[in-house]
Amino acid sequence: MAAQMTDAHRRFLQVLMSHGIMEGSEARKLHRRCCEIHKVYYAHDKLDDFISTINSHLQPLFMQIRKGMSEGDGRAHYALVNLAETEITKMASDYTENELELFRKTMDLIILSENGFASSTDILNLTDQLKTKKMKKKEAEQVLKVFVEDKWLSERNGEYTLHTRCIIEMEQYILSNYQDVARKCNICHSLAIQSQICESCGIGMHLPCVRKYFRAQTEPRCPQCNDFWSCDIPGMNRIDSQSPSKTGRAEKSFILGTRRC
Ligand SMILES: [Zn+2]
Ligand SMILES: [Zn+2]
Repeated sequence: MAAQMTDAHRRFLQVLMSHGIMEGSEARKLHRRCCEIHKVYYAHDKLDDFISTINSHLQPLFMQIRKGMSEGDGRAHYALVNLAETEITKMASDYTENELELFRKTMDLIILSENGFASSTDILNLTDQLKTKKMKKKEAEQVLKVFVEDKWLSERNGEYTLHTRCIIEMEQYILSNYQDVARKCNICHSLAIQSQICESCGIGMHLPCVRKYFRAQTEPRCPQCNDFWSCDIPGMNRIDSQSPSKTGRAEKSFILGTRRC
């Protein structure tokens, strides 16, 4: 039997809806505030139970609050997902046809790329290939800005990738529409857009998952094929400088790792 939906739950849902996506620490603060305001039982470690109560009441509406991870820093995020709209139709009411086409083409570039990023130059070069209606470069720049503001894309130094919100909302769509190229992380088993890939067996891992997984290992080996992990491990140099090398060659090549992943 599903737990009672209180005003605290309703308030939490309302705020999450207005934000679209929320970081774990924000969601925990909001959880506390909602329970205090409405004098509802609160325990700091019960956020996931609190959310599953909301989810059981959202089920008939084909909506769900889902937890996902930022591919950049590994932090947890929560987003409200509409399960009835499985495709980019989620965005259809907010954008014009050629804007949606530009988004789809940008998504292709990002997913088909090696590192999960597409440069603004490559994206802007798509504008005269649009079938629905051509777009001027200036106009396209503006549209990209809106995609970032609306949290479908995120941008860093002119390079675009999918925003955490987009990944949480469109995971199923991407996995079924890009079957041959979309990858699941070998550690957390969710969709991985930005990932490191094993040279020997081809499995992929998110950068934060790579960092976490290899933290406890003296020599980085692929969790699937046990071959040496030849990519640079993010954040590893700092740790190594604190503890002097014991293993020598292998460790050195792993710090200096020449291959760009
Ligand atoms: Zn992962
Ligand atoms: Zn491997």
